[in-house]
Amino acid sequence: MSGPFTIVFVAAFAVGLFMASSPAIAQQAQEVEDAPENHVLFSDWLKTVTTDARARGIKPATIAAAFGGLRLNRKVIALDNDQPEFVAPVGAYVAARTTAATLRMGRLKLKQHAALFGKVKKIYGVSARYLVAIWRLESSYGANLGSFRVVEALAALAYAGTPKRRLFWRQQLLAALEISDKGYAPLRRLVGSWAGAMGHTQFIPTTYLTHAVDFDGDGRRDLWRSLPDVFASTANYLEKSGWRPDLPFGWEVRLPNGFDYGQAHLEVRRPVAEWAALGVKLANDKALPAVDQPVSLIIPSGWRGPVFLVTENYRAILRYNNASAYALTVGLLAERLAWRGKLVAAWPAKDRLLTGLEKTELQHKLIQLGHDPGPVDGKVGPSTRMAIRVFQKRGGKPADGYADYTLLEAVREAAAR
Ligand code: CA
Repeated sequence: MSGPFTIVFVAAFAVGLFMASSPAIAQQAQEVEDAPENHVLFSDWLKTVTTDARARGIKPATIAAAFGGLRLNRKVIALDNDQPEFVAPVGAYVAARTTAATLRMGRLKLKQHAALFGKVKKIYGVSARYLVAIWRLESSYGANLGSFRVVEALAALAYAGTPKRRLFWRQQLLAALEISDKGYAPLRRLVGSWAGAMGHTQFIPTTYLTHAVDFDGDGRRDLWRSLPDVFASTANYLEKSGWRPDLPFGWEVRLPNGFDYGQAHLEVRRPVAEWAALGVKLANDKALPAVDQPVSLIIPSGWRGPVFLVTENYRAILRYNNASAYALTVGLLAERLAWRGKLVAAWPAKDRLLTGLEKTELQHKLIQLGHDPGPVDGKVGPSTRMAIRVFQKRGGKPADGYADYTLLEAVREAAAR
């Protein structure tokens, strides 16, 4: 990331040295400073989006209203570049979002909107507690809808954001124009996060187009001001993502001694009864529920932390936001809102995830030790997890394939011998 930007900054500095006072030149230099690798000016780049938008049938008046006077928002680019080096372990992520205050407020919301949630459940099959949990994670129950103009934010990201995501953002930008063009929501209402997510449950524009619904019947799909539209749209999205009514996200479970952790993968789906036959029980030692559903085993923080069997509903939440910490938090918060799902196992206290550099080091050292973690790319994928499991098995440790700092230290120690 920093390479091309550095070069551009140097060029901009050189321009600055002999820059005249003309505002046109000043603006040009400013734009070059943030231009992507191909050095196309933001204003010229917008013309290419205009061409795309016209080809998509968006009216010239809509495009003019959206792009007239549009400036490159550098704050958005800075936010996109500011990816944290240390990612919080899942236990800390969950804890921060299931506090007593969060639960209190969530239960209040469940009560306040009970009638509406009942109507939504009847049509889409999604329980209120899951909608409230998503609402909390996406906008703190509507307290924080974001204040970026979505068209401006998406234009900045599509122009100069993370290169491999620019095409995605360009599609989102075109979808935002379409929302306005079709009259679903006026341009001035398209406000959201710096990454272009909108409304109480933070729909990106393409999701808005495909899944937002008008539930209060005013003719508009208003995810900013209409809670009926918000809850129904969110439930509709979950339903279309495979939601099964009256099923939780999953259950905390306990594994028998010597369990093969190679089974712990979302790709491995077995009926509940098969897991029971393998010795898996609920964490409170009770038998697994008699549910006729394929479920998967996940170990989000390694063998020392809580272990879960997850249902199709966990997968539906992942479709909403493809991060396991997110899906698990939605599930745990939802169950806690209904006075269930309090964890039996504790999250590991000293769990720390590895940085990209540390993951690379881990892969190098695994190779040094004769293992095959796949390409050294600083990412813990299936082959690296498999190599970790072999390493753990050889050391007589639970082979969960989980890469945290404790594991790296053990690998370092072995490699130094
Ligand atoms: Ca509406």
